[in-house]
Parts: sequence; C-alpha cells; structure tokens
Amino acid sequence: MTVEIICVGTELLLGNIVNTNAAFLAEQCAGLGLSCYYQTVVGDNRERLLDAVKKGLARSDILLLSGGLGPTKDDLTKETVAEALGLPLEEDASSRKLIADYFAARGMTPAESNWKQALIPKGAQCIENKNGTAPGVGICRDGRYVFLMPGPPNELKPMFTESVMPFLRTLGQEIIESVTVKIVGIGESAAEAMVADLMENQSNPTLAPYAKTGEVHFRITAKAESREAAAALIAPVEKELEARFGRHIYTVRAEVTLEQALVELLLGRGYTMTTAESCTGGMVAARIVNVPGASQVFRAGFVTYANEAKAGLLGVKEDTLRTFGAVSSQTAEEMARGAARAAGADTAVSVTGIAGPDGGTAEKPVGLVYIGVYVRGQVWTAECRFSGNRAKIRESAAAAALVEFRKRILEYQAKEGEKADGREQQI
Ligand code: ATP
Ligand code: MG
Repeated sequence: MTVEIICVGTELLLGNIVNTNAAFLAEQCAGLGLSCYYQTVVGDNRERLLDAVKKGLARSDILLLSGGLGPTKDDLTKETVAEALGLPLEEDASSRKLIADYFAARGMTPAESNWKQALIPKGAQCIENKNGTAPGVGICRDGRYVFLMPGPPNELKPMFTESVMPFLRTLGQEIIESVTVKIVGIGESAAEAMVADLMENQSNPTLAPYAKTGEVHFRITAKAESREAAAALIAPVEKELEARFGRHIYTVRAEVTLEQALVELLLGRGYTMTTAESCTGGMVAARIVNVPGASQVFRAGFVTYANEAKAGLLGVKEDTLRTFGAVSSQTAEEMARGAARAAGADTAVSVTGIAGPDGGTAEKPVGLVYIGVYVRGQVWTAECRFSGNRAKIRESAAAAALVEFRKRILEYQAKEGEKADGREQQI
C-alpha cells in the first residue's frame, strides 16, 4: 500500500508556518510499514487542490489530507475532494450532533458557518474531533482511501492516532509491530557502529536509527501474519540491543520520554529532586514538570542567572565564582549541593554554561557547559561542549543534564547495592 500526504494551506506555501503535520504523518506511516512516495503542499485554491487530489488518486492507494476543514470560506478541502471523487456533499446527522454537543459543552452557540462542517461526501464516514469543531472525514472509493483531517496539530495528531491509524493497520494483509529502544550517553555514529552488523542485510525485522537531541532511538519493525508472530521476530533483536547497550537504554516503550523514565526512576527509589539552572533558564525543570505525576518527586527549580542569585539562593561561594568563574565545574558542584539543601531534596541537577552568541573566550568558548549532579551527599560534575546557535546549545545542555542525572542516580544505586551486599556477606 502506498500513501500520499497532501497539506492544504496558503500559510504553508508562504513559509508562515512549518509543515509539522507532514513530518508527523510521514513518520507514523513509516512506522506502519506504508510507503510514502509523495508529499504535496497546496494553497487554499480550488483548481490546484483539485489537481493535487486527482494526481494523488491516480498514483497512491491512500491519501492523507490536512487542513482546510474549518468553517470559513477559504476552507475548501471537503468540497474539493468530493468533487475530485465525483461525490455530492450531504449533511451527516452524527456530525451535526457532535458540533451541537461541542458548542453546548462550552456554553456557546454555533454560527451558521459551523454547520457547514457537518457536510460530508456521500457515503463517507465522519471522524470525531475531540479537540475542535471540524470533524474529520474518511472515504473509501474504488479501492482508494482518503482521510481528511483538521490543520491544527493538536487536533490532527490525536485524530490520526486514535481513529485513522487503527484503520490503516487493518488494511494490510500483514500486521506491523514495532519496538523503540531509546538510548542515551552514546553518540549517534558510535551507537550505529555498535549495531552495524544487525543493520546490514536486514529485511524482517528492520532496524532503523533516529537521532534526537541527546538521544538515539532504534526502531525495530516486523511484519507478520499475527501480533504474536511479529513480536517473536522482534524479541531476539531487542534482546541483542539490550545486551549491547545495557544501562544506556532508558526505555523500550515508544511513548516514554527520558524525563518520564527519570521521574519513574526517582519514584522507584523514593527520591525527591530539584534543579539549579543558569543557561538553560528552567528548561530542565520544564521537561520534568511536563511528566504527569512529577509533583511526587519534584520539589523546586531554581533559575539562578546572575552571580548574586547563585550566591544568594544557592549559597555558591563568592570565592568560587571569583576564582573559577560562573561557568566552571566548581560552580556547577556548589549549585547542585546548594539547590538540594535549599529545597530539602535528595537529589539535584545543575547546569551552567555559555549559550552565546557572545561571552565566549579562547579558554571558555561558546557551547561550554558544566553539569552537576547531587545524590544524597555525593556530587559529580561533567564538562560538555556543544555547537550550534543559542537555542540549540540550550536544548543540548538541558538534554545532557537529564542524561547525566540519570547516569549518576543509577551509579549511586549500584554502589549502594554493592555496599548492602558487602554488609550481608560480613554478617
Ligand atoms: P480551523 O478550523 O482551525 O480553520 P482547518 O482544518 O481549516 O482548521 P487550517 O485553517 O488549514 O485548518 O489551519 C489552521 C491552523 O492549523 C493553521 O493556522 C496552522 O496553525 C495549523 N496548521 C495547518 N496546517 C498545518 C500543517 N501542515 N502543519 C502544522 N500546522 C498546521
Ligand atoms: Mg481553517
């Protein structure tokens, strides 16, 4: 089965918005084992959209469209797709009810134009939109499948994952299953080199790497007649990756983020945490707080940008700042210790660095970052050097802080385990 993605919107053509929907849909389709050979961006224009849809229908089995489902005049995706398929538009009763309910739940009255959203091509199926008013549409005609989804990513993504994806899965004769092994602490090329033999001559399952800031993900995808058979193909490769990457793997669940794994790790140990950030300005804390249930481990986050704040709030010594500078392993260490003390937390992570573009010297260039980790009285520091612009350096620093934090907690845990074993032996 081949799939084609058509994104509708003049804003996309003008570069006013980035086409994240296409990236999302393409990645999801790859995960489903569907081949995507074409992506089209077309403005809010009937003729050109008609042309794009007709071309798509001629060369692909499945068309995924995003955008132009709204109530306004320039939203013309439904009408145009109906025209391309030779289908009239009809009011869909369930869709009308969904729209009525959506507005009633918010104490609002729909405008006349909102009812336009209840029109769908004859024989098509409407898809509920839990996050907006424009329902999606699914159409099957002459062996082709067409899905229309709203443009806002917060509406398109859940609609695709909850409604369209399960259907696409059933289309193929084969079941496609995948497992994502997520790795930290090893660079992309090094990680790939470690599994080069597994990536060569692979066909089923396939093993593909994806690099993310501070992380490398390997997706193992298998095609088989049943879920069980696919899982059986994946298992030996997953086991092999576990043997090779060991503790560098933080999860094998696609939906789990590094910060979530970290929160789970702290929860498991009954540890609380805090952050002390300079150049990342709260990015580490924000990632942690993004995890539901973070309140059980996260005590406080300090953004100490000025030297006076590092000294005043965290107790970093004036002498340390004067002698070694704010960007130094000594300051990172005192920031972590001070934050743990001030917040009364078991663990702390600190970040101090030069994000640029100014402020670098030959000795301390832009991109130099120190990370401190405190775990129950012990402190470690790490020196990192990142490249890129200010945003990229800050993002890399925040990711590295989480990676370093996880590494030291595991190390501490392993040492405590050894000590406990030693005591047992003595007894
Ligand atoms: P609405 O009911 O909000 O008008 P719609 O289905 O008509 O939804 P559009 O009007 O095309 O969608 O786009 C609405 C907004 O969704 C855009 O302003 C943009 O912020 C976002 N958006 C649209 N298409 C994309 C895309 N391909 N990638 C990322 N964001 C998009
Ligand atoms: Mg619109």
